[in-house]
Amino acid sequence: MHNIAVIGTGYVGLVSGTGLADFGNRVVCLDINHDKIDLLNRDGLPIWEPGLQELVRKNVRSGRLRFSTDITAEIREADMVFIAVGTPSGENGGADLTTVFSVAETIGRALNGHKYIVTKSTVPVGTGARIREQITRYAPAGSSFEVLSNPEFLREGSAVYDFMHPDRVVVGAETEQGRAVMREIYRPLYLIETPFVFTNLATAELIKYASNAFLATKITFINEIANLCDGLGADVHVVAKAMGLDGRISSKFLHPGPGFGGSCFPKDVRALSAIGEAVGYDTRLLKAVTEVNAAQKLRMVEKLRRLLPALEGKTVALLGLAFKQRTDDVRESPALAVIAKLREAGARVRAFDPVAAETMKKIHPEITYADDMYECVTDADAVMILTEWNEFRGIDLARIKQLMARPVMVDCRNLYDPAGVRALGFQYACVGRESYSEKLS
Ligand code: NAD
Repeated sequence: MHNIAVIGTGYVGLVSGTGLADFGNRVVCLDINHDKIDLLNRDGLPIWEPGLQELVRKNVRSGRLRFSTDITAEIREADMVFIAVGTPSGENGGADLTTVFSVAETIGRALNGHKYIVTKSTVPVGTGARIREQITRYAPAGSSFEVLSNPEFLREGSAVYDFMHPDRVVVGAETEQGRAVMREIYRPLYLIETPFVFTNLATAELIKYASNAFLATKITFINEIANLCDGLGADVHVVAKAMGLDGRISSKFLHPGPGFGGSCFPKDVRALSAIGEAVGYDTRLLKAVTEVNAAQKLRMVEKLRRLLPALEGKTVALLGLAFKQRTDDVRESPALAVIAKLREAGARVRAFDPVAAETMKKIHPEITYADDMYECVTDADAVMILTEWNEFRGIDLARIKQLMARPVMVDCRNLYDPAGVRALGFQYACVGRESYSEKLS
């Protein structure tokens, strides 16, 4: 059994720390945010994530999982230290590694005996080597360590499931002892023959960026096809379905919508472009992905403008604020771009999200928040569906129409059948099925 200190108790630190405890390790999750740690110590959760509360409780009760702000003392007790702090976009889109290196300094100063330092944060290629230099600078004589890379692939909204059932575990390690220790902490996964990819630090770091950039590109590709469909009388759903039946393509990540958001894809695509620049390679494809994705978010407001040209003084109801369903995360959510654009046009914004309203209130306290979807649309001049929450699929459309001042709907997630919605009397826009459905109705 290993004593693991996880530094940074955010989505990744909390879920992976809890998962590693469930695998039989003794884990302490650390953070500089006292409120967050106090909340966790009072049986609360700082994030909304299906299945997490139960798993945290189970492991806290078993004595394998703790939370603390006493970072230095806990590093000294641990034989493995995970770095899981944020790596947001910095200047020129490159990852801002200030926190990672400040944590590396803390680890160096606290170092005693031999420890494995594992980077779980998504970091540019070469960061592992720089973390090693930083720790060496502060490490006391007689201490020793190895830096490992173990990028995380969990998805918000199914983070617990993903951590417990990963498609693969990627480990960058320079020694056999480093590889062995990673096999030990992930023993339950190793036993059920989860593929482990062992490689060097630089390759492990690049795998994470390459994977996220590929998925972001795939989403952007189908969005571009959807935009073409709008002008061609074609149905993007049928195009995506037929494409997905090709085993070389697969149906995953072929859902058209308002553009990707979240805390990872946008920043990781930008960071990979910056990594390219650093080695003199112009990542033209990735730059286009960022550009097309930003335009896709604004395109949703253009769709609304075609149905409701003058937005000044109009009330626009937004259903969904999270960047995708099953999370309260609004980082780089399409809703942010839409809210900004609507406010710029002088519209009044009223919003509802099953779980993300509290997070959005911290960024946009000035807009109105409704307690449910029907209250949200009451007397509204238009409604935009921005997140694919399941409960929006079952919405009573006839009631919505009755409640609204004007029956104008922009369905940015293609949740409804265009012909059916139009038959109810809505003026309706969606993504990649517009002229196709007009022909049907
Ligand atoms: P987050 O912002 O939710 O959490 C980061 C945590 O680190 C916060 O709680 C913050 O208070 C804490 N922190 C900041 N400075 C600290 C310090 N000096 N010492 C201790 N704690 C400190 O971030 P996240 O979403 O968990 O992402 C963490 C990393 O994992 C990023 O590199 C991200 O790209 C990567 N990642 C995220 C996801 C995801 O879905 N969120 C998935 C895979 C990988």
